[in-house]
Amino acid sequence: MTSKEIREAFLSFFKNKSHHVVPSAPVVVKNDPTLMFTNAGMNQFKEIFLGEAPPRYSRVTDTQRCLRVSGKHNDLEEVGIDTYHHTLFEMLGNWSFGDYFKKEAIDWAWELLTEVYKLDKDRLYVTIFEGDEKEGLERDSEAYDLWKTHVAEDRILLGNKKDNFWEMGETGPCGPCSEIHYDMRPDEERKAVRGQDLVNADDPQVIEIWNLVFMQFNRLKSGELEQLPARHVDTGMGFERLVRAIQGKTSNYDTDVFHPIIQFIAERAGINYGADEKTDIAMRVLSDHIRAVSFTIADGQLPSNNKAGYVIRRILRRAVRYAYTFLGFKTPFINELVPLLAKQFEGVFNELIQQQSFVQKVVLEEEISFLRTLTTGIQRFENYIAEHTAIDGDFAFELFDTYGFPIDLTGLLAREKGLDVDMDGFQHALQQQKERSRAATIIDTGDWVTVSEGDETDFVGYDYLKAATQILKYRKV
Ligand code: ATP
Ligand code: MG
Ligand code: MG
Ligand code: MG
Repeated sequence: MTSKEIREAFLSFFKNKSHHVVPSAPVVVKNDPTLMFTNAGMNQFKEIFLGEAPPRYSRVTDTQRCLRVSGKHNDLEEVGIDTYHHTLFEMLGNWSFGDYFKKEAIDWAWELLTEVYKLDKDRLYVTIFEGDEKEGLERDSEAYDLWKTHVAEDRILLGNKKDNFWEMGETGPCGPCSEIHYDMRPDEERKAVRGQDLVNADDPQVIEIWNLVFMQFNRLKSGELEQLPARHVDTGMGFERLVRAIQGKTSNYDTDVFHPIIQFIAERAGINYGADEKTDIAMRVLSDHIRAVSFTIADGQLPSNNKAGYVIRRILRRAVRYAYTFLGFKTPFINELVPLLAKQFEGVFNELIQQQSFVQKVVLEEEISFLRTLTTGIQRFENYIAEHTAIDGDFAFELFDTYGFPIDLTGLLAREKGLDVDMDGFQHALQQQKERSRAATIIDTGDWVTVSEGDETDFVGYDYLKAATQILKYRKV
């Protein structure tokens, strides 16, 4: 099955079970002070779960673009190094708002995975919440008994509160969850060591693919749990991981979701993917990061020096540096991936193809601007480490302030050389600069944030203002 067919099969499976197919919400969140980016399929339904809004449909399904690069879920450091955490990924989901509960959710998940996708039953493991005496939480034996009708008991594993009990926040809806994991190790290894010890243990070949959350409690301010009057189901399956399992690959990047882009990068760099771990990681990072950057811009957030805009600028600069150092791209290249992506997502998330040339232009501008200081910054860094055994705060600040190196990029450079960065010293230098430039101008229009902090290297130039106007026009149409 192609990735396209796999996505369609998911949506039509649940459509046939009376689910309403809804569009993905934007990845940029504008109206929730607790969240910068959509990081799970359930985000757009939060008000329903909190009882603040009635559901329009009691059964819903979709594929949601999610970003996990900040806050509670931050996978950025893993991306490219491992082969199954992305910055931007699709989360396939099905929901019941006060309608069906555990039985249907479990039966249908199993039916879809084993009968439609034909995944090998001997490679599937499921987990259920083991309970937590201290917290007064019971084992989810209901889920255990339901799974028992499908899988051998030695494939049902007990999971702790961290992995198997979901809470929206300090208060609010919560409940046990049941995860589904897929073991992709070769037969001999699988026979020698069972998956039990590897599930949720960061084994790159035994990966979590689906999480079924059963919201049955409401946590009160006192910490006590009460039963919810209406119980809900919230599921999330990593699309790229599912595709990998179905296509029998050992890396998400070998599936048809990423392979064409990796191939394009490899050809342009004149380096084979698979030739060397360092260049492989760089290609994976590029093919991943461009997705996060493109969709964030398409959803209305431009790179900037503030909040969500800075998160995306950091991701892009990280990609530029990987391209520059490991793949030999000394001139802008990453923007050329935008048309490929736009085509790939046509009919799934049309936001990108509709704004393709605009997004590409913004990425190009960003590349040009960072490449201007990157060469000298790296040179400065090389000279510095020839004489030092650690990166002090003032130097990290110089890289940040003069060469536009986000602190996590400096951290990455330092790690590659086995050096530490004095983070406290950096924060201190940053604070001092902030105090010096109190007169910073901040224009926050709600739709995007443009910041000029009085320093030339921080100035968000004319092009961005122009670009921002374009987005505004776009939204009004
Ligand atoms: P993991 O333990 O692998 O980090 P998770 O438990 O944090 O995953 P959930 O919050 O349960 O993930 O999200 C539901 C599903 O989304 C996961 O089962 C997984 O398939 C997928 N997923 C989560 N994070 C990522 C990511 N960074 N990239 C790709 N898929 C992801
Ligand atoms: Mg995670
Ligand atoms: Mg997990
Ligand atoms: Mg999970």
